[in-house]
Parts: sequence; C-alpha cells; structure tokens
Amino acid sequence: MQIRVRSGGHDYEGLSYVSQVPFVILDLFNLCEISVDVEKKSAWVQAGSTIGQLYYKIAEKSGTLGFPAGLCPTVGVGGHFSGGGYGTLLRKYGLAADNIIDARMVDVNGRILDRSSMGEDLFWAIRGGGGASFGVILAWKIQLVAVPEKVTVFTIDRTLEQDAINIVHRWQYVAHKFDKNLFIRIYLGRVKSSQDGGRTIRALFNSLFLGSVETLLPLMKESFPELGLQREDCTEMRWIESILYFSGFPTESRDVLLNRTQPNVRHFKAKSDYVQKPISTNGLKGMWKLLLGEEAEDASMILSPYGGRMDEISEYTIPFPHRAGNLYKIHYLVNWDEEEASQRYINWIRRLYNYMAPYVSKFPRTAYINYRDLDIGVNNKGNTSYAQASIWGRKYFKNNFDRLVQVKIKVDPANFFRNEQSIPPFLSCWNNNGKWIHRETKCFSLFNMYSNKLFVD
Ligand SMILES: Cc1cc2nc3c(=O)[nH]c(=O)nc-3n(C[C@H](O)[C@H](O)[C@H](O)COP(=O)(O)OP(=O)(O)OC[C@H]3O[C@@H](n4cnc5c(N)ncnc54)[C@H](O)[C@@H]3O)c2cc1C
Repeated sequence: MQIRVRSGGHDYEGLSYVSQVPFVILDLFNLCEISVDVEKKSAWVQAGSTIGQLYYKIAEKSGTLGFPAGLCPTVGVGGHFSGGGYGTLLRKYGLAADNIIDARMVDVNGRILDRSSMGEDLFWAIRGGGGASFGVILAWKIQLVAVPEKVTVFTIDRTLEQDAINIVHRWQYVAHKFDKNLFIRIYLGRVKSSQDGGRTIRALFNSLFLGSVETLLPLMKESFPELGLQREDCTEMRWIESILYFSGFPTESRDVLLNRTQPNVRHFKAKSDYVQKPISTNGLKGMWKLLLGEEAEDASMILSPYGGRMDEISEYTIPFPHRAGNLYKIHYLVNWDEEEASQRYINWIRRLYNYMAPYVSKFPRTAYINYRDLDIGVNNKGNTSYAQASIWGRKYFKNNFDRLVQVKIKVDPANFFRNEQSIPPFLSCWNNNGKWIHRETKCFSLFNMYSNKLFVD
C-alpha cells in the first residue's frame, strides 16, 4: 500500500488522493489550528489549514502583518509551503517557504520531530522539496512580514487592438526591476473583440502595491508609462482586502476565506516555465495565435514577475532554485467541462508548451513543483530509479535535486513515502579516483551495509 498525504487537496495531478496502486489517504483537514503571536511576528499553522484561514487569523490579530503565500484561499499549507508557495508579496518577501522558521513532522519511524531534532538537512528539504517524499508535516512555524495599513490594487486590461502586444513586450523588460513593493502580473486570455465581435487576446495587468496611490502613480509614470495607469484605476484597501480582491471575492466580507471548498471545480491541465530573456514580439504573436485556437476558449497564461527579493536569495538556500536570472514565470492553464474531450485540451496545452520551448529556460527547461506536471517525467513504477527521477527532478530543483536525494536516503531509505514524483533514495560514493559515482538502490541491505561509511562519515 502507498500512503498519500492530503492537506488542501490542490495538487494539480491529484497525487494526494489518486494512485495507480492500492493506497490509503491520510487526510489532515482536521489539523487546522493557527496561533498567531503578534509580538514575535510569528505563527504556528497546522498543515491542514488553508492559506485563506491563515490570512484570516493574521488579519484578526493585526492590520500590519501579512504572509507571502499564494493567491487562492483554498490552497492547503501542507502542500503549498512544502513546494515553495508564492503570491503577490513575492518580490518583497520571497516565497512562503523562505519564511518558515520551524516545523513539526512525523518521520518514517513515527517520531515527531521539530527543527532541532530533524536537523538542518531535513528542515532544508521540506521547504521547497515537496513534503510528500520525506514524512508527514504536521505544522509550520512561520515568520510574519510587515504590510502597510493601506495597499493599492489595480487591474487594467488591454486587447490586441489596444496595443497589448507592445505593452506586454515592454513589461518583460521592466516588471522584474520595479520597486520591490510593486507586483504586476499579466493574465493573458481570449475574449470577444469589442470592435468586430471576433476573437482577440486580452492582457489583464493585475497589481498589488505596498503603499499609497500617491506613491504609486509617479513610480508607474517613470518605470512603465506605456500602461497609462490613472488614479481612477487604483483602489486603496487593507492588505487582507487585497487577498479577497485577488481571488475575485467582494472585499466586504472576510468570512469567505474560511471556506475550504474551491468553487467551480472543472477539468484542467496546467504547466509552467521560466523566462530568462524577453520574448520577441514575433514570439508573442505565435503565442496569441495558439491562444486564439478552438481549444483555448477557457485557457490562460499567467506571467508573474520575479526580481526583487527573489534575486537576493541564493538558489541553494532552500530546494526551490528559480532565483536570480529569471525574469518571470509562466503558468499555462486550460479548463474544460466535457470529460470525453479531455485529450483534445491536453494535446492543445502540450502544443503550446512545445511552441514555447525556444523562448524559455533550457538545460534544464525548469518548472515549478507546485504546478505539478506529470508530462515532464515520472518515476518508474514500483522501483524508483535515480536516473529516471533526475529527468523531472532537475527541472523542479536543478542541482538541489542531488541534495534532496541525499536527505531522502538518510531519512527514508526504504522509500516508504513515495509517489510518481517523489525523491528517490540512491547510493553514491567517492571511488578511489576521487570520482562521485551513483548507484541505484534496488537493494536495501546494500544501503544498510554502506550508509554510515558513505553518508554519515
Ligand atoms: C486553485 C489553485 C490555486 C493555486 N494558487 C497558487 C498560488 O497562488 N501560488 C502557488 O504557489 N501555488 C498555487 N497553487 C498550487 C498549490 O500551491 C499546490 O497545488 C500545492 O501543492 C497545494 O497544496 P495542498 O496542501 O492544497 O495540496 P495537496 O493535494 O493536499 O498536497 C500537494 C502535495 O503535497 C503533499 N502533502 C500535502 N500535505 C502534506 C503534508 N502535511 N506532509 C507531507 N506532504 C504533504 C501531497 O501528498 C501532495 O504530493 C494553486 C493550486 C490551485 C488548485
């Protein structure tokens, strides 16, 4: 039997509740206590809590503290923080995982560990390496961050007829260099043209600024005048209201943040990419063409700017490696209703992904683990292989993959915690010529025989 651990159940490929082999689900939804310490600017949050519940609890205690996690309130902190977790505070404070200061987890031997008893290697691994490979996370201790009493939000849209192509093109050069307090993402999708009723592409510029309208307007005029932001496009509000704004809820009532159920669940497939050089206007035109296609009726590409704090944190600090050098991340998404049409939509998003290959990161073509995508590789069935896992592992973690493997063999050598994209245990050692060699661990006793010598000493 395999064990699947579920916190918020938002895994894009359902790995917390679907398996090809017999399995049990360990569902943590009842572990949802959150205690906020305003004085110490920290909180303990149990793994089954959602980020909406966390934001709600923080706001209940303070109007000037926040936390840099995701935009969708129903996402669970168990999976989200263990894979990184980003939202509108990314450029100012980095990821959720960058702001974890302690954790409680159950290891494969049933022991409850905290940061000091698990040691720094395992504590490193669970902050971005995906929790499911290492044990069951029970709770996180997080460092809360300062947010101003008033923040400013805006959403402006531009269609192809309104020069969207040049504005998006320009955004690629400036968005990662903006003041850290400014986050402007782009939501690209197909809409009806107001001019001829045909199809057009709309770029929605969706922004949070940690400050007032007065400060924002001159900043935008200087760094991104092409967008033409006006005072009437902007709204000042509390940070907690901006959470509601970004998730599409009215800002008046926060109670909706306590709802664990994701509204409008449909079939979908998603993928991710990192962009390191601005895409040419010709490249963008090719994207538009695909987004205008038949299957793209409910498809989108969300471009999230990096830079700021993300550039300051080394790619080795935690397993999440996508730091300096990345201009922005692309999140591809397609939704549909009719189950029998699934293959058509999945093929479409794969075509879009193939088209994007020349414009995105290479060797490896990197991806975000929290946007789980089994297309980029899966473990061998039954017997996890290092070579096989490196295919997807280097895309999510780059060279941090090897350190994750070393942690795995220390804490779960028999590979009890596993799924289609879990970190495999393997053997490696220095040979007599000083060369680092890897060996697959098909044989558990080999590990027992050698592990102390090879790994601990
Ligand atoms: C609607 C929606 C919006 C999203 N928005 C964002 C966003 O704004 N920013 C962002 O970064 N990501 C976002 N995501 C992606 C999200 O971060 C990941 O899907 C994340 O893994 C979800 O965590 P979960 O606990 O809800 O999922 P689950 O499905 O419960 O878990 C995901 C993975 O983590 C493992 N896991 C879960 N809990 C534990 C635990 N306690 N111990 C060990 N392993 C565990 C599971 O086994 C599974 O492999 C979004 C996803 C959805 C569906």
